Amino acid sequence: MQWEVVIGLEVHAQLATHSKIFSGASTAYGAEPNTQADLVTLGYPGVLPVLNQEVVVMAAKFGLAVGATVAPRSVFARKNYFYPDLPKGYQISQYELPIVEHGHIDLTLEDGSVKRIGITRAHLEEDAGKSLHENMGGKTGIDLNRAGTPLLEIVSEPDMRSAKEAVNYMRRIHQIVRYLGISDGNMQEGSFRCDANVSVRPVGQQELGTRTEIKNLNSFRFVEKAINFEIERQIEVIEDGGKVVQETRLYDSDRDETRSMRGKEEANDYRYFPDPDLLPVEISAEFLESVKAAMPELPQAKAARFAAQYGLKSVDIEVLTAAQGTADYFEAVAAGCDAKLAANWVTGELGAALNRDGLDIAESRIGPAALIGLLKRIEDNTVSGKIAKDVFATMWDEGSDADAIINAKGLKQITDTGAIEAAVDRVIAENPEQVQQFREGKDKVLGFFVGQVMKATQGKANPGQVNQMLRDKLNS
Ligand code: ADP
Ligand code: MG
Repeated sequence: MQWEVVIGLEVHAQLATHSKIFSGASTAYGAEPNTQADLVTLGYPGVLPVLNQEVVVMAAKFGLAVGATVAPRSVFARKNYFYPDLPKGYQISQYELPIVEHGHIDLTLEDGSVKRIGITRAHLEEDAGKSLHENMGGKTGIDLNRAGTPLLEIVSEPDMRSAKEAVNYMRRIHQIVRYLGISDGNMQEGSFRCDANVSVRPVGQQELGTRTEIKNLNSFRFVEKAINFEIERQIEVIEDGGKVVQETRLYDSDRDETRSMRGKEEANDYRYFPDPDLLPVEISAEFLESVKAAMPELPQAKAARFAAQYGLKSVDIEVLTAAQGTADYFEAVAAGCDAKLAANWVTGELGAALNRDGLDIAESRIGPAALIGLLKRIEDNTVSGKIAKDVFATMWDEGSDADAIINAKGLKQITDTGAIEAAVDRVIAENPEQVQQFREGKDKVLGFFVGQVMKATQGKANPGQVNQMLRDKLNS
């Protein structure tokens, strides 16, 4: 039997507001437990939620970015359930009338084709608090700092057909919310996570199989592994004559498996109803226009522009447009030197150094202007690309500029023909055996000679000149 995999994701993006969705309490991460729980967060009787306008702007931006309809009128609803980290006894969310509907993401698949994944809806809601189990002396602690933090829940159509596609989709959403500046996308801190709905069906069957929902996946790697585990598990259950049970499962990354958490509640168990404390959200055409006017250039448009304007390869474009900060850095460098050279260095040497030190590009120890200073010295033949890497390393460690390092260390490339010729002549005179081999047609020996001359000049000879001169002399 051939099985087809069906996946739909519910992505939760924490919105990057300073204060909570319905109160003025701070949303900053990492504060002492319960220091950011005001009366609204605590669900005291008699207090009223007041909608933070910023979340409406953010949701509208997202809607526009994914080609969705931004609803002129949406409604907050109460989702009722009891849990210790939810003091009100209900979560304020949106149900029948969400703020965003009918969007899509276009994925580029490995074979280069484009596949459209539907976004059913995106709605605003408040996050719950956190239960703490560690170092609590056998009890459970409750931290309500996170309660009331604004979330945008982005629900996809069941359009994905593999774990890879699901990860690809999630990465695109991550990239878009970060470009829009509506979420920091920090997955370790839980600001960006997803629930993966997975089912399988025999190839050719129209009807969807029974799904399970894997909760709270907070890394791209875990999303891929959890889904792949779940696919295998479901196929095994069915092939052994059993039935997949609709349920919520948790992924255990230590054991790389999913485990049943609870049977799936029916949606109506939540007794959703419109929250009488909040007015419907009305979005005027003018408001939407003002949001549209403030939209940044989005990843896909930027990628297309980079291809047209700079003639870069698609692998480089992928890296350079992954985050807005990288794209901006690249463009600042490309404004001062050759764009392809800039692309090579930003994706290569700079990317490696940032990775190694675990830094974001905004924290780079070498800024765009300083990098231009170095790349200009490659362009005007002051240093070779190889020496430039050493200069780069020194700039990174010491913070000085390229020219100062080149001068202080005497790294200026030797372009003086006389000096290079002297070294070439000496190397040829000292290696008669290899000269013989070259003349007998062993072309590879040229590399040996180039190496010797570079060594004799501490790598400072211009490699192009060395090559040419060696060929001329050895062939004569
Ligand atoms: P709920 O709110 O109960 O989680 P929804 O109907 O809103 O249920 O669906 C949630 C997610 O599950 C959506 O992303 C949807 O595409 C996906 N989904 C629904 N049915 C299936 C299925 N049979 N297989 C895989 N994914 C599914
Ligand atoms: Mg769900």
